[in-house]
Amino acid sequence: MNKDVATRQILRGTEKGEKKYTFGDDAHDPDRPEQWWFQQSDEGLILFIVFYSQACRWARCLGCNLPSKMSAEHVPFDHLIRQTDYLFSLPEIAEQAGSINKLIVSNNGSVLDEATFSSTALMYLMARINMHFRALKVLALESRPEYVDIPELEFLARSLQEGERATALELCIGFEAFDEHIRNNVFDKGLTLHAFEELAQKIAPYGYRLKCYFMLKPVPGMNDSEAVEDIRQAIDYLDTVSAKYNLAVNMHLNPTYAARGTLLGEAFLRGEYIPPSLRDLAWAAGYAEGKNISVFLGLSDEGLAEQGGSFIRKGDEDLTERLEEFNRTQNYSILREVYS
Ligand code: SF4
Repeated sequence: MNKDVATRQILRGTEKGEKKYTFGDDAHDPDRPEQWWFQQSDEGLILFIVFYSQACRWARCLGCNLPSKMSAEHVPFDHLIRQTDYLFSLPEIAEQAGSINKLIVSNNGSVLDEATFSSTALMYLMARINMHFRALKVLALESRPEYVDIPELEFLARSLQEGERATALELCIGFEAFDEHIRNNVFDKGLTLHAFEELAQKIAPYGYRLKCYFMLKPVPGMNDSEAVEDIRQAIDYLDTVSAKYNLAVNMHLNPTYAARGTLLGEAFLRGEYIPPSLRDLAWAAGYAEGKNISVFLGLSDEGLAEQGGSFIRKGDEDLTERLEEFNRTQNYSILREVYS
């Protein structure tokens, strides 16, 4: 794709979503990734990497300012390769390389969109993974469904089999809201259940896994009980999809923060939106007990919230720790303790 076309798509989406932010172009060194951090889950030690690349081409989702951390212009593959080298040279990563069980690869958009994330850079990353992450059980790639093509996944999965241990491939898909009207008309996600199930059906024969991102209370105008109910319906739906296609499905549930430079952030500043509480997060997630899916709770606003617009409030430290413990154990009695 012509590089200017992608830039124009990003700017068009940004305008459609009435975003007020600027991009990271001048401020960010293109040889450095955007962010990386470690998480603990019941799957073991997770390394989460966000590469600094060209922004998400969709760009318009109501409460999302993730593209603001990326570049509106194309970031060529040599920069992405230097970002990979930088990550692998970090002592904190090098020292734990042999214990990392899961790697989540993100560019705050779609790493399977070759217009914004180079295929050469992806292949280079695969080589470095096989060389250094000897305990890797799962490689998770974030992408919108329209960029997922099976031959590419087959190639990546084959390459993973050349590593020291069998590594599963997981696709991470942003859903955000279950209600069709909220998801597509209010949030402007551009994702139908039909498109999602087509993807589930496509990957089922290969045994790839699915991670689905949801947000608790993603839009203004939803009250707290409606927000919890939306997640409960999503849990029932994912449970059904998991059984129907025999897929391992994880729900990654993020409480929503009022993202700076978005319509949601503006609604918060006008007093028309209050982020959800961690108790409601536990209440919503607790519904997954006994279902066919696992749940991971996102507990970071990545520093992108308006002041006072995070879901973490003063005094929430203990609750956060308890929810992190749930992530490590999938022990639902912890959630019951938090919301009771
Ligand atoms: S939520 Fe995802 S698809 Fe939507 S604009 Fe943000 S990064 Fe792009």
